[in-house]
Amino acid sequence: MAASSKPVGIMNGYECDIAIVGGGLSGGLIAAALAARRPDLSLQLIEAGEELGGNHRWSWFASDLSPAAADLLQPFPKAEWGDGYDVRFPGHERRLSTPYRSLASRDFAAHLHSVLPEGTIRRNMEVAALDENGVMLEDGTRMTVGAVLDCRGQAPSPHLTGGWQVFLGRHLRTHAPHGVQRPVIMDAAVPQIGGYRFVYVLPLSDRELLVEDTYYADDPVLDRDALETRIDAYCTERGWSGETLVSETGILPVITGGEFSAFQRESRIAGVARAGLRGGFAHPLTSYSLPQAAAIALLVAGHADLPGPRLAALLDDRARAHWAQTRFYRLLGSMLFGAARPEERWRVFERFYRLPESLIERFYAARSTRLDQARVLCGKPPVPIGRALGALLGKGTPMAQESPETTREAA
Ligand SMILES: Cc1cc2nc3c(=O)[nH]c(=O)nc-3n(C[C@H](O)[C@H](O)[C@H](O)COP(=O)(O)OP(=O)(O)OC[C@H]3O[C@@H](n4cnc5c(N)ncnc54)[C@H](O)[C@@H]3O)c2cc1C
Repeated sequence: MAASSKPVGIMNGYECDIAIVGGGLSGGLIAAALAARRPDLSLQLIEAGEELGGNHRWSWFASDLSPAAADLLQPFPKAEWGDGYDVRFPGHERRLSTPYRSLASRDFAAHLHSVLPEGTIRRNMEVAALDENGVMLEDGTRMTVGAVLDCRGQAPSPHLTGGWQVFLGRHLRTHAPHGVQRPVIMDAAVPQIGGYRFVYVLPLSDRELLVEDTYYADDPVLDRDALETRIDAYCTERGWSGETLVSETGILPVITGGEFSAFQRESRIAGVARAGLRGGFAHPLTSYSLPQAAAIALLVAGHADLPGPRLAALLDDRARAHWAQTRFYRLLGSMLFGAARPEERWRVFERFYRLPESLIERFYAARSTRLDQARVLCGKPPVPIGRALGALLGKGTPMAQESPETTREAA
């Protein structure tokens, strides 16, 4: 590490060493990793929104993270469940022992404000343009920097195929203790409406719950009224009443195939490194990206002296390797969307949740071995074989994103 009394960037004629565009999950974790491992470098973390992280809650299994990634997340204040989680399907319930974690964006932002040097974070500041040598802010200010990282989040692409995971979550303060002891990661013993549907429940304290209604759907449409009604019904059945503290919605891509090189070409800005969803770093089937965001943050911190174009090439290579390594999950996604009738999609997950716990951990961490893959696929398929083959051989449904408005709430 180069110790210096003067920020390195200023010595090189830059206004800062590294500009991170987008203060969401990946941009924030990169900033945290750089602050911890390379405090000699000067940073700018530029976020268009009012606050870093937006309105989110990110959850993960302890087994998703390497020890170094767990260390990176360790100082963030978060909810932790040490005694595992439950899943429920029609006729099958299971308790698994893997510890679970959840980080609210409010805590994410507070921690970043406390560890990043003053003047590092710029909020309410949209970046209008970025290139290899710097960024242009919306107010017309040009900032010359050593390297630029594009962490602006999901870039919808017509080059990828798949479906959608649509959800509405309600953070509830209950009038009486709710009695839920541990997270319920999938309660699929609920009516299957519109696709694979499940309810996700996180007990945040004895009177606070996150209740999220999720479904895997063919179209990126969120019907808020329908989801609110279903959450009401779910809570009423369990005797939970209270006030809503905050709610969150998501329409996340479940990627089943496509041409990754075209996806990369489409959002490439010469010499600018891409991380997070912008770079293609997510689990194709669960749409989760926290484990990948933490791994990339550590990679960037370990190569922070590289010039922008070389950092960009490094992350592009890593993204291609991630795409190649996650083929199996896209294949399963094709079976889910292409082969299973919407009301039968739960069977794919129900069967999966009968498998050994270590295999399930590797699956969520996107580290399934060949043997794991064989075990997931062998036996009597939960979907008709003819339809499964059709789905695997077909091209899949393009995530037709002529405009971002196709990802929308139903009127
Ligand atoms: C509601 C919700 C819940 C989720 N839950 C989980 C979960 O539990 N676990 C998990 O692993 N994943 C989860 N995900 C999926 C994924 O991890 C998140 O979407 C994650 O936030 C993606 O990280 P990112 O940094 O790529 O993008 P984001 O976190 O979306 O960050 C992008 C940031 O860039 C900013 N930005 C965009 N354009 C500009 C610009 N021009 N100038 C400046 N700033 C700009 C945006 O305002 C935003 O803050 C969830 C997603 C959603 C939507």
